[in-house]
Amino acid sequence: MLFLNPLSTDAQKIAALANYLGMGSPAETWYQDQIVNQVTMWADVTQEFNARWPPIESARQMSEEYQMELLEHRLLEEEIGIIKTVRRQKVWTHIKWEEEAMELVRLTGIEKGSTLIWQVKKQLPKAIHRLLDDEYMTWDKFTKAVKELNMSKLKQEREEIEERKKQDEECDQKLLQRVEAAKRAMVADLMAQLQRLTIGQVAVPRSAPERAPHPRNPPPTQFTLQQGPRHTTTVLEMFPHQQPDKEGQKAYLAQLAVWTAKHGNVTRIMEHMLYPLKPGTVAICSGECFCCGTHGHGSCDCPTVEGDMSRLSHNEIAWRALCNRVLGLINRNNALNVRLVALDEQGNKVGSL
Ligand SMILES: [Zn+2]
Repeated sequence: MLFLNPLSTDAQKIAALANYLGMGSPAETWYQDQIVNQVTMWADVTQEFNARWPPIESARQMSEEYQMELLEHRLLEEEIGIIKTVRRQKVWTHIKWEEEAMELVRLTGIEKGSTLIWQVKKQLPKAIHRLLDDEYMTWDKFTKAVKELNMSKLKQEREEIEERKKQDEECDQKLLQRVEAAKRAMVADLMAQLQRLTIGQVAVPRSAPERAPHPRNPPPTQFTLQQGPRHTTTVLEMFPHQQPDKEGQKAYLAQLAVWTAKHGNVTRIMEHMLYPLKPGTVAICSGECFCCGTHGHGSCDCPTVEGDMSRLSHNEIAWRALCNRVLGLINRNNALNVRLVALDEQGNKVGSL
């Protein structure tokens, strides 16, 4: 809006207007082109000016928006008993909170009644909440009660709350330690089992000269991998052959995920699809059984059956067979001998294959 009332005549006002316009600004151009020597009435100039630059409506918040702001106006537990500076004046944080809340209440226009009091009160920290009455009928009474809170009582409440929080944290910490210890024990147990790599549900005739076919309900004969140190890594292995320990198993699963992401569910393994080898098994092309990845028997005589823990995946079986066919026994001399060992029901070694 344009006001130059203190000047007495319209001509003076129009002449003085030039002093208020920025040098080279669009307003100055407008003034030179359309006002000077063309418009003589100040009323016409203001009309022209306001038509060219209409006043901008400033944003006004609605009562609902102030209500939302009031509900979001929080005082945190850790702020209680702290002094803050407001307009160069040092005040307790809960007093500052009260002043700001009251200002929002006035802007909302609800200061006369009890609207939103319980909602706002509920959001206050427990230490304050406990020192207040159950109900307040007006905002004045409620904010006055906050303002007049007994500081020593407030500090005591806060200390008690902090003490309880500390106790809870200690309790959580102890629980966490117990869970970690249980986890470690479980991993150690798994590691011990991995050392034996037990497979169940496989029948092996220990005395018969030839292998009998698998019975329908095989007795619970068990097998384990008897393993030496890790074999030499060959250039064929894009995925390093992992150790049969916890870290190795983890790395192997990651390798499988990478392989699956790259090749998906393929129906046929090809030469370029370098496949990760199961930890604890022998090197490829070392005269191994493709089905279980150990030495001492051929793939056709493998005692493991589909579903056994020691049975390799279809992809790994196919990969080992493919490598053997294409490259021959290139690792025969540098792979360590690993055999499948039969265990009796007590887990004692009774024979190897
Ligand atoms: Zn086998």
